[in-house]
Amino acid sequence: MAHDYRILIDGKLVKPVRGGTMEIINPADNTVVAVVPKCSEEDVELAVAAARRAQPGWKGTYIGARSELLIRLAAILREHQDELVPLETMQYGGPISKTSRFDIPFAPAELEYMAGLGRSMTGHTISADPDARVMTVREPIGVVGLITPWNFPLVTAVSKLAPALICGNTVLLKPPSCAPLTVLKLGEYAVEAGFPPGVVNILAGPGSTVGEAIVRHPGVDKINFTGDSFVGKRILELASQKVMPVGAELGGKNPMIVLDDANLDGAVEGAAYAAFFNSGQNCGSPSRFYVEAGIYDRFVEKFVAAAGRITVGNPMDPDTMMGPLAYNACRDNAERHIARAKEQGARILLGGERPNTPQTKDGAFVMPTIFEVYDNSIDLMQEEIFAPVVGVMKVGSADEAVERANDSRYGLCASIWTNDYRKGMLLVDRLKVGTAWINQHLAIVSETPWGGQKESGWTKENSILVLDEYTYQKHVWIHLSETPNTFWKEQIALD
Ligand code: NDP
Repeated sequence: MAHDYRILIDGKLVKPVRGGTMEIINPADNTVVAVVPKCSEEDVELAVAAARRAQPGWKGTYIGARSELLIRLAAILREHQDELVPLETMQYGGPISKTSRFDIPFAPAELEYMAGLGRSMTGHTISADPDARVMTVREPIGVVGLITPWNFPLVTAVSKLAPALICGNTVLLKPPSCAPLTVLKLGEYAVEAGFPPGVVNILAGPGSTVGEAIVRHPGVDKINFTGDSFVGKRILELASQKVMPVGAELGGKNPMIVLDDANLDGAVEGAAYAAFFNSGQNCGSPSRFYVEAGIYDRFVEKFVAAAGRITVGNPMDPDTMMGPLAYNACRDNAERHIARAKEQGARILLGGERPNTPQTKDGAFVMPTIFEVYDNSIDLMQEEIFAPVVGVMKVGSADEAVERANDSRYGLCASIWTNDYRKGMLLVDRLKVGTAWINQHLAIVSETPWGGQKESGWTKENSILVLDEYTYQKHVWIHLSETPNTFWKEQIALD
């Protein structure tokens, strides 16, 4: 029997007030895998009220007790790992080799990491005035709205939920409409773990209605959003009406720079993995390659050969390396970009088509696609495609590579491949990005901060820095004598 998915409001698993539903489609074959609740503004209203009621109690709960609940939730997630892995794969196409190794195990690990890290949270003491004790006291922001994308549905949600909760916030979490299943399951586990009513609220429904209602609501104190830069701008626009802070993890168009002295095989392995892992649907994937002339021909030949060996197919097959894109519109967008790149003078070296096999004929598949590019201003090198479609360009020097890498409205991450670490480090200094790797790409773990610059946003996710996203540091000044220091002491002195 089909699972009865519910939303979570005020500690109860319920159906939306208006009873709406949405179908969840498996992008591998376009069949319906589940029917889930579709919320409306009324549900947002109820969830905000519950979160507001719960906030003082949760803020006032000893952090060790909050931590224990996070750890309990992690344990329940682990118990259900085998059930969650195929669910994650079916709803957005991430191959099971990825969801079983990364998406699902990473979620409890993130909860446990934050459960420990949060307990070490401190404020500052400030030696400003010997007549005073001055400090900052960290407080939760209040009620936070967490709006998440589909490319790692559970992990992205937990990466926001865990720090928000350990810091003492109550939350409204809205997963993506195409892939909410594992986050809705998380709601069931939050009830089982014993979170007090109203601390965790989970609402599924369209960003344009439910998402915007969360952003607009006067009872929501902060939004933390991961998604497209265009949507991020809309959220910022709405938030400006309330002067509300927004954490923004937005799009990317990430460069990979390969210098003449790089280890060729290492660079090729890094390129093929980082560009095509998860069908290139990673905010950190490289999609622009700037390769120095001396190594260019050998790199391109090997990169094309390596990408050609990627097995594309049914994401439920453990040997599949690349599954479909998340839904048909993503495939159609990739195909539009492939056609546009050809029109704009790029030369196709690999792919550009759908795979031609019986098991992929009904799905949202695109083969790994590599173009040789002669003009850095074409759409392929400037627009985020979020698909396995990349451009490779020959450059005359490391300086030219960095210049071209920075010639983008995005600034999420970049990598430099060289055996000259001094040169690499000096180039890193010139890259306008949030993360720069040398001889690595897509290394992202809980302990390392993640977030961009420019139109990629400014927030930090993961690491100890994430605690600043979910707390407010209140300045507290305690004067040590009974009379204050003022400039008017003599003028207004009382007898
Ligand atoms: P979207 O921006 O389309 O959606 C993200 C979330 O925002 C979804 O829950 C969506 O709901 C919601 N949303 C959409 N419109 C609104 C709105 N007007 N108001 C409030 N919420 C809204 O992104 P995708 O899900 O397509 O994810 C891919 C994007 O995410 C890429 O651009 C990628 O680069 C970026 N990303 C960035 C990361 C980073 O760390 N910088 C990490 C991962 C992804 P609904 O699903 O109902 O539309």
